[in-house]
Order: sequence, then C-alpha cells, then structure tokens
Amino acid sequence: MMFETTALKHRKTFFVFTHQSLFLVPEDEYKRICQSEDRYVCVERKNLPDAASRVMERVICIVCHEEEKMEDLVSPLCRQIHLAICRKCIEYLKKRTNKREVVCPYCKEKKSDKTYQEEIICVLFSLMPHKTLHIIELRPDTEVEMVTRLTRETKVVLDNIAVAASLFFGLMFKTVVAIRNSVSLVGDDDSLDWCIGDLGWRTSGRTQVFIGGGYTDEEMEQIRGNIKTIPKKSIQINAKEIHAVGDGVYILLKVWAGAGEYSPDLFLKTSKKEHIEEFLKEENSSLWVGRVKRLDLGGYAVEIFPKLGLSEENEVKKLSLGSDSPAEISEILKMENNSIWVGKVKRLELKDYTVQILPKLRIHGENMMKELVLNSNYPSCITKVLGAENNSIWVGKVKRLELKYYAVEILPKLRMHGENVLEELVLDTYYSKQITEILKTDNSSIWVGRVEMLGLFGYAVEILPKLRIHGENVMEELRLDVFFLGHITEILKTKDKSVWVGKVKKVRLEGLAKEIENKLDFTLIAPVDQE
Ligand SMILES: [Zn+2]
Ligand SMILES: [Zn+2]
Repeated sequence: MMFETTALKHRKTFFVFTHQSLFLVPEDEYKRICQSEDRYVCVERKNLPDAASRVMERVICIVCHEEEKMEDLVSPLCRQIHLAICRKCIEYLKKRTNKREVVCPYCKEKKSDKTYQEEIICVLFSLMPHKTLHIIELRPDTEVEMVTRLTRETKVVLDNIAVAASLFFGLMFKTVVAIRNSVSLVGDDDSLDWCIGDLGWRTSGRTQVFIGGGYTDEEMEQIRGNIKTIPKKSIQINAKEIHAVGDGVYILLKVWAGAGEYSPDLFLKTSKKEHIEEFLKEENSSLWVGRVKRLDLGGYAVEIFPKLGLSEENEVKKLSLGSDSPAEISEILKMENNSIWVGKVKRLELKDYTVQILPKLRIHGENMMKELVLNSNYPSCITKVLGAENNSIWVGKVKRLELKYYAVEILPKLRMHGENVLEELVLDTYYSKQITEILKTDNSSIWVGRVEMLGLFGYAVEILPKLRIHGENVMEELRLDVFFLGHITEILKTKDKSVWVGKVKKVRLEGLAKEIENKLDFTLIAPVDQE
C-alpha cells in the first residue's frame, strides 16, 4: 500500500496510482468515478465506460436484482465487472452488518478491499478511451486532455522542477524516472491542488515528507532501477521534517543530497540491516545535515548517526536514539569514546541499547542540557557502560536528569559540570535486580551536587542513602514513591535520622514511603511566598 490517498491533484489533472499503473486523468473524467466515504468505487450507470457495458450485457444489482437506471450509482463487484451493487443496497447492508460483505459469485476473489478497489478503478479507466505514453516530461503547467496511462516502461522526465514527494516516489515506483539538472521535493498537502512547481518552490503548508516502508517487490525493483540511473544524491528536499521507515530509509539515503539552505528534522527507523548496510562504508560526517534541530533514529538507522555531518555551531534541540538489539548498533559501538561530534544539544534521549553510545558522543564543552533521559529495559543494555570508571562520562551541565530501569546504574558513571545545579533528578525502577551494582556502593558515595527537585520511584528509593548532595543545598521538593514494602527493605533497617537530605521546602511521601519518614534527616524550611 503506498498512500492513503490514491489520487493526487495537479491543476485539473489527477494522478491516480493503482496497483499496476499510473493514470493521468482529466478532472471531468475523474468525477465520473467516485469513491464513497467507505472507499468503495462508485460510478453512475450511464457513466460506465462503453466497453464495460459491453462486457456486462446489463448491470444488475446482486442484492435487489433490479436493473439500474442510467443515473443510479453502482459499485462494481469485481475487475471483470460481472455484477454490481446499487447504492441503496450498500446503505442497507451497512446498516445491518456494518460491512459490505458481498463478492462476485463468478470470481469470488478474496483480496484486501483496498487493492480490490484500486484494481476496479484501474479497470474503469482502462475501459475509457485512453492513450499510453512512452515518454512524458512533467512541468508545472502539465495537464492532460484525455485519460493517459503511464506504465513501468514509460519514461518520465523531471527537469529543474519541484515535485510533491508523494508524486515523486509514486513515479519512482511505477515508471522510469529521468532526472535532468536538479529536482527538489516538497511535502504533501491535500488542500493544494498543486504537485509540480518551479525549482526551489516552498509552500508553508507543505512541511513533512514521508517515505514509508512495506513496498512490494515489484515496486522495489522499479525504484532500484531508477536509483541506478539518476545522478547519485541529486534530490533536494525542501521540508521541515523528513520521516522514513523501512525501505524508505534506504531510498532516502540513496537519493537525498543532504541539507541545503534549510535543515529538515530527521526521523528514520528501520529494523533491517540491508536498509543501511551500504552506507556504513561511507565516511563519517559525509551526509550533511547542517543545522538539524530534531534527530530521531531508531533500530538500524542509529548506525547512520556518525555519517551525519552537523554544523560546528549547531545546537540540536532534541536527539533521540533507540534500539532493541545490540546487533542494530554493532558498528557504532566499535567507535572510540568521544568520537562522534554532537556539539550542543538541548535534550538527549537514549533508549535501551543506545545508552551505550553515550560515551561515544562528543558534546560541546559549554553545553547546557535541558534534559538527559536514559532508559534501558534489559540488563545487557548497560553492561558496557558499567565497565566504565565512575565519573568518567562527561555530560556537562544538565538541568533535568531522568534515569529509568537498568539505566539507573549509570548514575555513578556520569560526570556533570562542577557548578551544575540539577533542577530535577528522577530515578525510577521497579525491580531490585535493575540496580544491583549501585546498591553495592558506599553510602554518600555518589556525588549529585545541588538538586532542586529529587524524585525517587520504586526501588530507586533505596539509592537515597548512596547519594551525596551538596552540603548547602536547599531542595525545593523531595518526592519518594513507594508502593511495595520490598522497595525499602534496606532503608527500614537503618537508624533513625541516618539518611541525610538537608534543607528542603517540601517533602512528598507517597504510598508506603511514610514508613521511612523518621529515617530521613531533613530540615523543613518555609517556602518563600511567591507573589
Ligand atoms: Zn440493489
Ligand atoms: Zn466477477
């Protein structure tokens, strides 16, 4: 399945993508065939192409057996158009069963409804008078006067123009694309009846480019052929965001020239190595993304991260990496520590195995991170990091630090700027096995410096005695959340007032946390009234 919408409108011409072909259809012809809200293809009896009427001697509704009047809407049941169902009966069936479970008794083809409806559209257009082109150049003023079919052999020339991304990739999957000079892609916007413009065209409504996955073998074969012949990395993309998944990641990396004047945010995700394998050979920082603001890489796409070239003075607003398997990031894990330039980054989020990439990142010396989130669900996600020395992983200044599950173990390994003030520190874990190492450390051995808001959840409450907070710290809020006595077994054994917290304005003890209130050594101070 390629798009949600199977038709793209340009001026008065529709590009209709069907399973086998691409049709360019004039608006008048297109209106003869309509898709109802439930996506069934309907056509007025009188508008059934002549050839179709000859195929079906007469059109009979399979449900009511009434021969349709010329202006009645009918919905063909199969590609051969043996029988149809009338609009009245569709409504009737929908009310009763919520579905239209009627198939042509001669064909009994079982296909997904969408493919099926696409094929019927294809048949209806093929039955209309039409021509098949061997070559066509698409220009901003392109229009057709009659139904025009493009096949897998049709050569489509794009020369110094901007094209909506969905039309471009549709052409790449269905035809032979020839690119001359330069081509830029813009995002899709159904509200504009415009898919082809002058080069450099940008419209405010077109902000996102999607390159989905799940293409058929036929489509992939066609696009591979196209990729071979078009100049390497010749495609500019003028959009705010590029989203690619699965095969789409491979296609993007093959054709995209990298960031130009504008750096789009990148969201890439794939679970197959073959989608990124050939790019691993390329030099680091070779795909220019310049001043990218948002980078979200998942699965094997994480391996592409070192290949991205970021501008020296750039500040990334949010960098998210996530991987469910060590195999997905095996190459990046071989890299030296501090070898991957990130520069300044506001929010950094590493999930599961990518937590191990943290020491590989080189963050700007004067960086001020708003948020660092490390989250690992499996013990093997952090084994490599656990081998690191304490205070060896430089993260600079951090305002909010959140460690979840196994990643809590990484806290002693982090080195924050000496003058750092943590506005919020959150440690969150529900099983003791997730923090076995940190629980072995001495009390007051993990330096966290000044902390304004400290939140410990579940078993992480047991870490409180291990933390060393700045002697002159004044905490805004201490929050402990315990809903299972097992979370506080060790603290319960300690002496009263033995866990130093210092000055604090508000203590929030949730659930069973009240059980350890007298173990805490804190001085409540009145919050300053805020006007
Ligand atoms: Zn009927
Ligand atoms: Zn049939």
